[in-house]
Amino acid sequence: MRIFVPKETHGGETRIAVIPANAEKLVKLGADVEVEAGLGTSLGLPDSDYASKGCRISSDRKASLAEADMVLRLNKPPRDEIGLMKKGCIHISYLDPFNETGLVKELANAGLSAISMEMIPRTTIAQKMDALSSQANLGGYVAVLVAAERLTRILPMMMTPAGTITPARVFIIGVGVAGLQAIATAKRLGARVEAFDTRPVVEEQVKSLGAKFVKIDLGETGQTKDGYAKALTEEQLAKQREGMAKHCAEADIVITTAQVFGRKAPVILTADMVAKMKPGSIVVDMAVETGGNVEGSKLNEIVDVNGVKIVGFGNLPGRVPVHASQMYSSNLGNLIEHFWSKESKSFNLKLDDEIIKGCLIAHAGDIVNPTIKNLVK
Ligand code: NAD
Repeated sequence: MRIFVPKETHGGETRIAVIPANAEKLVKLGADVEVEAGLGTSLGLPDSDYASKGCRISSDRKASLAEADMVLRLNKPPRDEIGLMKKGCIHISYLDPFNETGLVKELANAGLSAISMEMIPRTTIAQKMDALSSQANLGGYVAVLVAAERLTRILPMMMTPAGTITPARVFIIGVGVAGLQAIATAKRLGARVEAFDTRPVVEEQVKSLGAKFVKIDLGETGQTKDGYAKALTEEQLAKQREGMAKHCAEADIVITTAQVFGRKAPVILTADMVAKMKPGSIVVDMAVETGGNVEGSKLNEIVDVNGVKIVGFGNLPGRVPVHASQMYSSNLGNLIEHFWSKESKSFNLKLDDEIIKGCLIAHAGDIVNPTIKNLVK
């Protein structure tokens, strides 16, 4: 099986899909691995690091795409490269399939078998392939550092002969994978941390990290079988905002991570709430790429609202590309290894497997994921 890893072309991407250690594992499985020249440049990895692991180095991206049985990427494929790949080629990357229905159609029409890394099921067995989690974890860490760096005060308490400094107050809204890591990071830096999530099961996890769980009675909220939050009604969101306003007003840092899978992120911090925050405080909107949790946040910008800075940086994991690449690459490697057939030395696309059923979006000329198929008219 010929596996090709092209360079990422997405603007500003610093992460790469496959690091040499995972490329070597694929070679050892019996794959014929080819990487585009310069694949590792953003991490300071020369082509020789891949060549020494048994990979071929390609300087003809188009030809390599055309010959590959499997293409591995991080970001979705550029539209003009879909037609270059051969029918039956397995393409694995992020696809953003809820928003990219046109792209999904094109992948199906081209006869590609397209796997979306966002759609790997949240099951125990698939945890090692779960790129959403691995990247969100790093994103949560980076969000705290980005905020701390811009805050004009320190996070920990300090008792010194020159006086006592009280700890900064950090409020985390949305305690999934990113939120939990944000809590842990802020605690490590010595802040006083509060957190809120609509899923009540999270309370114990928040407490176990030494943070305080903010309770707001929203009535029935719950979660899906995959552990995702259910969308709130407008009345519930209004109640939530009211319950959180005081905590936001007292906070030095607010980090919002709230997502509802497959939908636009809920607006949970309104302009009114931001207006009541202390000048000098920092808001990091981690949901900025999916619509934003904070009214007024702008992608890749810092918006100043009367001294409150709203940070809307996209691709937070891309700010720690070495480890983000290591984890994504390992997620990809684990997925491939899980379905690798030693006999045929190729990826066995088991159509009746629960993991494949979850993440395979297009196959044999059709859109095969029922949720995505429903979205495509
Ligand atoms: P996510 O990125 O979809 O959402 C982030 C958080 O926002 C979630 O905790 C969600 O409850 C919360 N949220 C949604 N609306 C909100 C609102 N209005 N106000 C406040 N918070 C709101 O979530 P995620 O990080 O991908 O993970 C969600 C959960 O899935 C995890 O906590 C975990 O329990 C589960 N999970 C399981 C596995 C596994 O079993 N393999 C892997 C990863 C995650």
